[in-house]
Amino acid sequence: NMAKKKKNAIQYHDKALSEKALQRRQLVMDLRQAISDEVLSLVYQPKYDLSTLTACGVEVLVRWHHPVKGYIAPDVFIPLAEEIGLTAAISKLVVDKAAAELGSAGLLDGSLAHVAVNVSADEFNNADEMYALTQFIKSKKALAPFVRIEITETATLTDMHKSVEIISNLQASGITFSIDDFGTGYTSLAMLKDLTVDEIKIDRSFVSGVEQDERSRTIVSAIVAMAQSFDIHIVAEGVENAAQLKILQDMGCQQAQGYYLGRPMALHDLVKHLNQDATEFSAAH
Ligand code: C2E
Ligand code: MG
Ligand code: MG
Ligand code: MG
Repeated sequence: NMAKKKKNAIQYHDKALSEKALQRRQLVMDLRQAISDEVLSLVYQPKYDLSTLTACGVEVLVRWHHPVKGYIAPDVFIPLAEEIGLTAAISKLVVDKAAAELGSAGLLDGSLAHVAVNVSADEFNNADEMYALTQFIKSKKALAPFVRIEITETATLTDMHKSVEIISNLQASGITFSIDDFGTGYTSLAMLKDLTVDEIKIDRSFVSGVEQDERSRTIVSAIVAMAQSFDIHIVAEGVENAAQLKILQDMGCQQAQGYYLGRPMALHDLVKHLNQDATEFSAAH
């Protein structure tokens, strides 16, 4: 009797598992289709210069609106794309669409100092794919001079020598390089010893505490000071209120991004947003 019960439990468990596996397989197929149909879309989040409170760049973020399941976050589908080897295809799509959209809006005229594109760990660690991406970016003549590649800190973990080479190849092509979510990996400081990065972005988890928490404030101001002495651009991620903004400005943090300054938005909203006068912006906040 016990044995029978156990067998039923196992069968039940297997069934639940296989349903989950089926759903996942379906999602992977849908993602593959979405990429080949080029239906992934883009939003743009402005990056602000904190001394002038004007937009100095944008970060491109990919979006997937599933026909049945609705919005699926990149934190969900990028890992899927990594598993099936489609992140290079996503990067290509992102660069292609960003070049077309920003170009058509007249935003590649130098008013934005850079256009940041996120590249996932598996692609960054593949020298051939990075070479191909670099060539593709270079083929977008109007966009290329502004491209900045963002890599999360963990991506550079696997092989420091290779990372150094990949980054210097990018920089030789005029593409700048940024460490995203800085402070969340285990190698933050070691990395700065060996890599010549152009920018680091302080992770939102530190920024979100600066107005209440002395320790977050200490960490953020230490990162800002360190970046300054290395002559690396510094961006605070995830600024959500005026108090945080003020503290970051007082610390001498150069740039910031966050919902308070501008949400990720579709191209036509970005154009409107950028047309807002800087004084109007600071008055409204
Ligand atoms: P990330 O590059 O660190 O991007 C910042 C994320 O924080 C974005 O989420 C953005 O919408 C969100 N964010 C910005 N400001 C605020 C704020 O003030 N408060 C809060 N709570 N969140 C804020 P999103 O768009 O869901 O992207 C999540 C991650 O997915 C990105 O993190 C990036 O690692 C990855 N990702 C997004 N687009 C792409 C892409 O085109 N390619 C690749 N490989 N990865 C991408
Ligand atoms: Mg990013
Ligand atoms: Mg980030
Ligand atoms: Mg992130």
